[in-house]
Amino acid sequence: MKGEEKRKISLSAAKERIEHLKKAIKKYRYERLVFNKEIISPEAEDALKKELFDLEEKFPELMTSDSPTRRVGGKPLQQFKKVRHEERMLSFNDAFSGKDVEDWLGRVSNYLGRKIAGPFYAELKIDGLAIELVYENGIFVEGSTRGDGEIGEDVTQNLKTIEAIPLSLDIRHQTSDIRIPERLVVRGEIFLNKKEFEAINREQKKMGLKTYANPRNVAAGSVRQLDPKITASRKLDSFQYDIVTNVGQKKHSEEHEILHKLGFHTNPNNKVCETIKDVFEFHDYWNRHREKLPYEIDGIVIIVDDNKTYDSAGVIGKAPRAAIAYKFSPKEATTVVENIKVQVGRTGALTPVAVMRPVQVGGVTITHATLHNADEIKRLGLKIGDTVIVSRAGDVIPQITRVLKEMRTGKEKEFEVPSHCPIDGSKLVQDGAILRCSSKTCAARHRESLYHFVSRPAFDIRGLGPKIIDRFLDEGLISDAADIFELKEGDIAALERFGEKSAENIVGEIESRKKISLSRFIFSLGVLHVGEETANVLTQHIAYSVSHIAKPNDIYKAFRGLSLENLQEIRDIGPKVAQSIHDWFREQRNIKLLEKLGRVGIVIKSDQRPATSGKLKGKTFVLTGGLESLTRDEAKEKIRELGGDVSESVSRMISYVVAGSEPGSKYEKAQKLGIKIISEREFLNILKG
Ligand SMILES: [Zn+2]
Repeated sequence: MKGEEKRKISLSAAKERIEHLKKAIKKYRYERLVFNKEIISPEAEDALKKELFDLEEKFPELMTSDSPTRRVGGKPLQQFKKVRHEERMLSFNDAFSGKDVEDWLGRVSNYLGRKIAGPFYAELKIDGLAIELVYENGIFVEGSTRGDGEIGEDVTQNLKTIEAIPLSLDIRHQTSDIRIPERLVVRGEIFLNKKEFEAINREQKKMGLKTYANPRNVAAGSVRQLDPKITASRKLDSFQYDIVTNVGQKKHSEEHEILHKLGFHTNPNNKVCETIKDVFEFHDYWNRHREKLPYEIDGIVIIVDDNKTYDSAGVIGKAPRAAIAYKFSPKEATTVVENIKVQVGRTGALTPVAVMRPVQVGGVTITHATLHNADEIKRLGLKIGDTVIVSRAGDVIPQITRVLKEMRTGKEKEFEVPSHCPIDGSKLVQDGAILRCSSKTCAARHRESLYHFVSRPAFDIRGLGPKIIDRFLDEGLISDAADIFELKEGDIAALERFGEKSAENIVGEIESRKKISLSRFIFSLGVLHVGEETANVLTQHIAYSVSHIAKPNDIYKAFRGLSLENLQEIRDIGPKVAQSIHDWFREQRNIKLLEKLGRVGIVIKSDQRPATSGKLKGKTFVLTGGLESLTRDEAKEKIRELGGDVSESVSRMISYVVAGSEPGSKYEKAQKLGIKIISEREFLNILKG
C-alpha cells in the first residue's frame, strides 16, 4: 500500500525488538485473560503482534516456540470442566493490507507448488468468542470454548440458553452425498449485537457498575459465567461456520449450506468469491458498510473454498495455511516516534510534532502527530524512540494516546525544549502553555514565503492555497517548503474539509510537482527583489553551468560560484538585487532548505535555451489584455523558448506590444512612444515564423 516503507533492520536490533514485543504482548494477554483487564485495545495489540510476526518472517532464526504468534486462546478457568477438542481449534493469521493478502496467496501457492487463484469463501469476521458444539444423534450434548486450542472449557449449560444454538437438529436434509453421522462437531462464534451491548452498559451505569469496553468482552464474560442465568439474561447470538466432522462436504461454502439446512444460524452475507479481486471488493464493501450491521465486525476471513486444497495446505504455527483474516483498517495502531520536530505556526506559536515511522491508521498512512505543547509531551511521558499507540477515529486528527513504556530499550531520548525560534533564531516568550517566537514579523514572513513557494508561477501546487498552508502550519504538519513534499494522505485527510479523496488528490498533485523548471525554481525561493522576470534572467545566466537535469544543490553551487561583481554584471540586475541574491545563498537556513529540497526529491529541469540562440533573440515583448488561444504564461514561455524577452513595462527598448482584448494603459503608452503594436494573430504568426 502507498506510503508503506520497507525498513532495514539489523539482526541484533530485530532481536532486541522481538524480545520487547514478546514481553509486552504476553503481559497484555495475561492481564486480559486472567484478570479480564484490558490494558491496550485489541487493535493496538494486533499491531504489535503483526510487527512481531513480520520480524519473525524476516528473521526465522529468531522465532522461538514460546512466541505469542504461535499460541492461541488462554488458560481455561479452573471452575469449568475441561474438554479436549477432537481437532485443534485454530485461529487465523492477520492481513492488514491488500499486499499482505497477495503475499499470503503467494506463500500458499509456493507451498502447494501451484498457483491458487480461487474460488475463495469470504466471511464476515465477527469479533466474538469461538466455540465448538457437539451433537449426538442430532441432540446438542456438549459446548466448549476454544481455551488453548487443544483443551477448552465446558460451557454447555450456558450455551443452551442461547436461542441461536439449536438444541436438536433437523436431519431430514441428508442426501446420498451428505450423511450426518451419530456424532457431529461444528464450530462457530458467540457474539453480542450492538443494541444489547449498549443496553447492558446502560444497565451497568444505572447500578453504578463499571461499563464494558467492547461487545467481545461481554460475550466472552457472559459465556464463561458459572451461573447460566446470567448468560441467559444477556441476549447472545451465534453464527456457525465450520463442520469438523466429515459429512461428505467438498467445499467450505458447502459447509455453510449444510449448517443452514440443519437449522444452525449462518451469516447470510458470506459469499463465494471467484477471484481475489472479488474478495477485495467484498472487503471494501463491508469496510464501508460495517456500521449498518447490527453486530461488530473487524474484518473478513478468506478461505480457499476447495476443502482438498485447504487440507493439503495444512497448518502453519497456530493457523491454517489456506485461510487468512483480512482486517479492516484499524482506528488504532502502534508505531515508533523517530523524532520530535518543533514547527512554527501561523501565529508564531511553537508546536512540537512527533515524526513517526509510517503507519496505517483508519485506512491511511500517517507520519505526523501534533503534540500541542511541551506539557502534553510531559503528560504522555513521551521520549524520542518510544513505541506509541496512535489513533485516528473518524475525522479526528491522528493523536498519540499512549506511550508503551514496557517497550523501552534505554536508548530513548528526552525531548529538549528549544531556546530560540527555529525559523529566525529570535528569543521565545512563554504564553500560558504555549511558547511563541518573540519576533513580530517572523511568523508572517514565514507564512508568506510558503504561500509564495506553492503559488502559480512557482511550484504551482494546485489545491494548496493560503488557508490550507495556514492549517498545515497550525497542525504542525509543515515547517518549511520541503516538508510539503513529505506529507502523507493520512496527515491531511483528518483535517477539516478534507476527505480521503481530496487528500489523495493533493498528495498526488504535490508528487507531480517534484520536477520543476529552473526559472520557476529560482522564483519559488522567494529571494528578496527576485520576481519572475529576474528569475528568468538568472536562469538564462546559469543555465550554462548546471546540467540539463539538476538538483537543488547544483543550483546552490552555481550561485555560490558567482561573486557580487559577477552578479552585478548580469543584464538587468542592479546592485540591490545582486546583493540580495548574494546574501540569500550564503544564509545557513537557506542552504539547509536547498539540501532538504534535494533530499525530498526535487529535480530541476533547465530546458530553457540560452538567449544567445533562437529567432526572437534581442526582441522584447510586452503583453497587455486577454489572449484567446493561449494563456499569458504560455505566451511568455513561448517567447522565452525562442530566445526573446518579456517585460512588464513599456519603454523605448520594447520591440512589440501584444494587444489582446481590452488592453490597458500599456497600450496607450505604446501608442505614445510609437512602439509597434501587434494583434494576437500577428503575434502567433511571429511565433510560427
Ligand atoms: Zn521566529
